[in-house]
Amino acid sequence: MTQKHLVTLIPGDGIGPEITRAVTDILQAAHAPVEWEEQTAGAAVLEKEGEVLPQRVLDSIAKNKVALKGPITTPIGKGFRSVNVALRKALDLYACVRPAKTLPGINSRYSGVDLVIVRENTEDLYAGIERKVDDDTAESIKRITRGASERIARYAFDYAVQNNRRKVTAVSKANICKFSDGLFLEAVRTVAKQYPQIAYEEVLVDNLCMQLVINPEAYDVLVLPNLYGDIVSDLAAGLTGGLGVAPGANIGTHAAVFEAVHGSSPTLAGQNKANPTALLLSACLMLRHLGEADCAQRVENALMGVLREGTTLTFDLGGTATTDEFARAVIAHLK
Ligand code: NAD
Repeated sequence: MTQKHLVTLIPGDGIGPEITRAVTDILQAAHAPVEWEEQTAGAAVLEKEGEVLPQRVLDSIAKNKVALKGPITTPIGKGFRSVNVALRKALDLYACVRPAKTLPGINSRYSGVDLVIVRENTEDLYAGIERKVDDDTAESIKRITRGASERIARYAFDYAVQNNRRKVTAVSKANICKFSDGLFLEAVRTVAKQYPQIAYEEVLVDNLCMQLVINPEAYDVLVLPNLYGDIVSDLAAGLTGGLGVAPGANIGTHAAVFEAVHGSSPTLAGQNKANPTALLLSACLMLRHLGEADCAQRVENALMGVLREGTTLTFDLGGTATTDEFARAVIAHLK
């Protein structure tokens, strides 16, 4: 019998538990060689344990080296700091990889989108260096280092080489943030010179947003500092069918956490309506990372079968199926 991979499972907040159950049901039906070690985190554990990211969660991921994570709520403007950011920092998950690819049967405005966002995950405005100067003034520091910028650039170019990609585009606002984004660009340029087989170009983030809406097919691998990467990820999700179908991975040297681009979507929570596709595709990225490419392909084929057929779709894709019905349809398509 195949040895099972022990994987940390964080169901998360809001729609997290519903979509996580759908995904674990599908993986079980696909006989994915995975055993889950469930860990709760976020608002739900704050009252009981006094913190949103207990050490046991970090220990579990550090031990298993791989996690599948549902979204976790971060209160806006007040309350605790983001569990997601803290998790990425604590485990040094420096590369956030988010493929955005046109899916079959999905009614989107574009047909040939196939790009990958490589977002720096550990610094920039997410470093949490901010303060209230007085009642009417606040400031946040945008911290960029050469080391982190070169590391993410190397990840992007290595990814391009390993995945037969042709071009890497560095995204910045170096015309305005001359020191911080200027340093980011300088670092990416240095790394680009070591990969002559991969085309290299640069674009300002505001222009990129327009170009992506007009001609997304022109882009391949995008490498961005943290904040631009976060925003452009949602834009890219919108090009391929929305947040319900956009997967992601947070990769470090010692651990990897796979999660959808979307958040906990509190307005949908508890209604059995959310689309589990984004988390399922994230789980497929996880299976490939674990060396289980055949299983990932079988699950993806079943998912694509359901999307192509178009009769059992969740509301965000124009259908009326519940989360559970969608999951059952994917299971029925497994071969
Ligand atoms: P969101 O991604 O939760 O929702 C944005 C929109 O997309 C909403 O209209 C929502 O209904 C829709 N949507 C999201 N996922 C969907 C799915 N699976 N199926 C169908 N529709 C879906 O973003 P938000 O409302 O800005 O954030 C809500 C909370 O999530 C916030 O607390 C935020 O901090 C948190 N968040 C967490 C993560 C994470 O855990 N990685 C990522 C982003 C946001």
